Amino acid sequence: MASLSPIEHLVTCGLATFHEVAKASHSPLTMAGVTPPRASNTVKYMISQSLKTNRLRLSTPLKPSVSLPLDRRRHVSAYGYTQAKALVYSQYGEPKDVLFLHTHSISPPTSTSITLRMLAAPINPADINQIQGVYPSKPPMNTALATNIPSAVAGNEGVAEVVGVGGGVKTVGKGDWVIMKRTAMGTWRTHMQVDEDEVLKIDDKTGLTPLQVGTVSVNPCTAYRMLKDFTSWDWGAGEWFIQNGANSGVGRAAIQLGREWGLKSINVIRERPGWEKLKEELEGLGATKVVTEEQLMGKQFRTMVKEWTNGGRQPIKLGLNCVGGKNATALAKVLGQGAHMVTYGAMSKKPIELPTSLLIFKEIVFQGFWVSNWSDRNPVEKKQTVEDVLRMTREGRFKDIPVEEVKWDWETKVDNLKEPIQGTLEGFRKGKSVFVFGES
Ligand code: NAP
Repeated sequence: MASLSPIEHLVTCGLATFHEVAKASHSPLTMAGVTPPRASNTVKYMISQSLKTNRLRLSTPLKPSVSLPLDRRRHVSAYGYTQAKALVYSQYGEPKDVLFLHTHSISPPTSTSITLRMLAAPINPADINQIQGVYPSKPPMNTALATNIPSAVAGNEGVAEVVGVGGGVKTVGKGDWVIMKRTAMGTWRTHMQVDEDEVLKIDDKTGLTPLQVGTVSVNPCTAYRMLKDFTSWDWGAGEWFIQNGANSGVGRAAIQLGREWGLKSINVIRERPGWEKLKEELEGLGATKVVTEEQLMGKQFRTMVKEWTNGGRQPIKLGLNCVGGKNATALAKVLGQGAHMVTYGAMSKKPIELPTSLLIFKEIVFQGFWVSNWSDRNPVEKKQTVEDVLRMTREGRFKDIPVEEVKWDWETKVDNLKEPIQGTLEGFRKGKSVFVFGES
């Protein structure tokens, strides 16, 4: 090994990229604009090309079939810098107008910092609101990633693999999977560097997919805490909750957790062509009743609810409101005496109007929930909640949400990334879009 040149040594260790070898060997490949090969063949290809051009002479035979996965090394430079891409914005607006893809380098981790390679990151409604500038949590705009103007990285949720650790890191190691402890950390990027304190390690990733872990911390945690923390249930006695937006990520999680904990649920969805299929799907997850928004607002609804709840003797003790507007008012009207209604979303963008009798005579308690605040205040419970949902997932008792995977490789064009983002706030979607990172 001693007789190798520095670049040859880095190739052997898998630390130099195609571009760097080509540059170091003055290969005509880069001049001719030849597209680098796919990552799995990178080392083999660059060696053979370099040898062909007689620019890279190796005194020791190279063994490119080294055991380390090649795609993990493709964008690590000669000096240990990781090449990364991030979807950033420097002004608020519609994602299609303000997002751009920024390429930058990440220095080797030192002290308690860790370098992460993103595996999966969902596109949630709140991510869009954040880019639009109408969400309370706003990531700081700065030039930390060497952008020309102060910018922020989009995305709040996701799972990453630890690919580098500083000398003082104690809580995670290479190969561990981690999720973000707080919002606004910017997950729509191939790699990032954070302090070990800013992530939550997934202690047992056995049997779990990046998609399952990458979508656990927002929607399932929200449903979990709203069902557990606002009502005193007689668990297992078949008590009721009602929710709108029942086919949302949060709604599906609430249905399944309710089923696990012995709660019955009335689930409101918007009518659409073939809505019966969606009804069956939600019943398959454990929904007791599924009704359309039209049925909820219809004259017969109270009668239906009375029948289901044994004449009101099994009252609906909790309402979960994702939508607002008239839908939320109708939901509140069937709640039992002293019930709680928790608002966590405003998908209709309409305010809630309430008959005062619900407050005065029925003593219904109207509250709100924001998982970000809750997580900041309850880090230990957050970890427990995540672990409990992942345990149910592993046991096949908590099903994945329907998703549209958006593959993000190193060569993926920015327009292919922006298109699914822009569609996130549109209704009647087949599933949540999730970035799934490949050869990045
Ligand atoms: P999601 O999986 O992307 O689903 C979106 C839901 O919104 C679907 O049920 C959709 O119904 C419904 N929807 C869309 N446009 C609508 C409209 N104009 N009127 C009525 N319903 C509409 O969503 P998610 O990630 O679960 O999030 C759902 C909501 O919860 C969002 O507002 C999100 O910000 C909020 N949320 C809040 C917290 C918190 O801590 N407060 C945490 C998680 C999520 P259709 O299929 O009929 O279009």
